Amino acid sequence: MTARAFDHAIVLGGSIAGLVTARVLSERFCRVTVIERDGYPKAAAPRRGVPQGKLLHVVLARGRATLDALFPRLAADLRAAGGVTFDYGRGASVHYGRSSLAPFDSDLSVHGCTQPLLESLIRRYVSELANVTVRDATSALGLLASPDRRRVNGVRVASAGETEEVVLGQLVVDATGRGSHAPAWLEQFGYRPPGESIVAARLTYASRTYVPATDYRPNWALLASMARAPQQPRSGVILAVEGGQWMTGIATIGDDHLPADEEGFTSFVHGLSSPVVHEALQHATASGPIVRSRTTQNRLRHYERASAWPDDFVLLGDSVCALNPIYGQGITLAVLGAVLLGEHIDVERRARARIGSGFAAGYQRRLAQLNRAAWQYAASSDATWPGTRYEPQPTRTTTLLRALPTRALRAYGTMVLDTAYEVPAVARAVMEISHMQRAASALIAPSLMLRVIGHRVRAAAPRRNRDAPG
Ligand SMILES: Cc1cc2nc3c(=O)[nH]c(=O)nc-3n(C[C@H](O)[C@H](O)[C@H](O)COP(=O)(O)OP(=O)(O)OC[C@H]3O[C@@H](n4cnc5c(N)ncnc54)[C@H](O)[C@@H]3O)c2cc1C
Repeated sequence: MTARAFDHAIVLGGSIAGLVTARVLSERFCRVTVIERDGYPKAAAPRRGVPQGKLLHVVLARGRATLDALFPRLAADLRAAGGVTFDYGRGASVHYGRSSLAPFDSDLSVHGCTQPLLESLIRRYVSELANVTVRDATSALGLLASPDRRRVNGVRVASAGETEEVVLGQLVVDATGRGSHAPAWLEQFGYRPPGESIVAARLTYASRTYVPATDYRPNWALLASMARAPQQPRSGVILAVEGGQWMTGIATIGDDHLPADEEGFTSFVHGLSSPVVHEALQHATASGPIVRSRTTQNRLRHYERASAWPDDFVLLGDSVCALNPIYGQGITLAVLGAVLLGEHIDVERRARARIGSGFAAGYQRRLAQLNRAAWQYAASSDATWPGTRYEPQPTRTTTLLRALPTRALRAYGTMVLDTAYEVPAVARAVMEISHMQRAASALIAPSLMLRVIGHRVRAAAPRRNRDAPG
């Protein structure tokens, strides 16, 4: 896009979704203002408004590639800051019980770093953009609307110790995360709050940093012991991050208790399906506290179904679709949502050279389509755990899913996972789907199905022969 078409955009929330959105909008608006409630730390450090920043973050390959395209210096700067970049097919060592995922050739490139380092670099790039103003230590208090309430045309904000002020803009984007107040803000103008889908598997997640011994040189950058519903709720991941450190992500689901004390945590890690994580930690020394989070339920706000919607106000990131972090989809979805907003603006501009009526509602509908696959992946996986609170808003898909023979699908899913531990091509397909490089429907592509079923039949054949009466 050559000339910037629109005057001023306001982005609420200056974490990853908001900052990436500001980057995208900076090409399309003369001015972009980011309003962030926290005072940013000077260095890469966790902060109050992003409590999850203290916990393990893995950015999926699709999100990594999109971030690298938006911020061309990112990969080099991450490495200069001590982060690592690795190929998931060979650099990730994934285990379930005694099985290890077959290594495979891939283009699934992933960065190993902490969330605060990633955010701080993105913050730096966005602050360097000449037409972006980042106002930290400033809270968004509510929206401003036109007299007929059909348009949102600004926000009320307050900086620490200052009186309330008004910021006017042609587009307002809510990227304030899981705690977004948008439903209440919209209700003040007579708009109905959105319906919500909730799928809560009661996941507890804990992270801790470690320093590995200097003479311990593993051949992985990510080590994982996987969970599997319904028998094994525990999972554990170690990711190599900046500073030569490891960050762990240990999780469990349902009534299983994840202790935060030294002894209990160590014994919990010992109880993962595979001993690999516990064994690796024997070569490392803890360098930080055990940090736990239970902010893990899947929650989807259905703004796309609103019967009336104000022009010029959109939402993205966790404020719309917040997912169980164990699947690592949040940053990727937020980044893809920001890119989609840019594309939606370009289409609008070609159609009528301005942001017109129906633009914002149209974006929420497109975003809902974008979020759908990730939501279904997380929600349907979590639904398999006993005790999961499963309250999706009915859609044609959920109705159809209910009608499908789910036991057969689950049995097939288990076959696919088992085969992935033995056949590199199946491991690759599963990981490409997990990293959002391929649609989940690839799982039921005839070629993959034949491969999986063929392998299971061949694997069972010698056993049948062995077991046959002689
Ligand atoms: C425990 C945990 C682990 C996770 N692990 C992963 C992972 O491995 N991989 C992955 O991709 N994702 C992971 N996620 C999800 C990921 O953190 C988010 O999806 C992603 O960062 C996008 O978040 P966001 O920018 O939409 O919101 P947030 O990161 O929550 O940011 C919201 C921002 O808005 C600001 N704000 C809030 N209210 C106001 C206001 N009124 N005015 C101004 N500013 C305001 C906040 O201070 C904050 O900066 C994890 C989440 C959790 C909880």
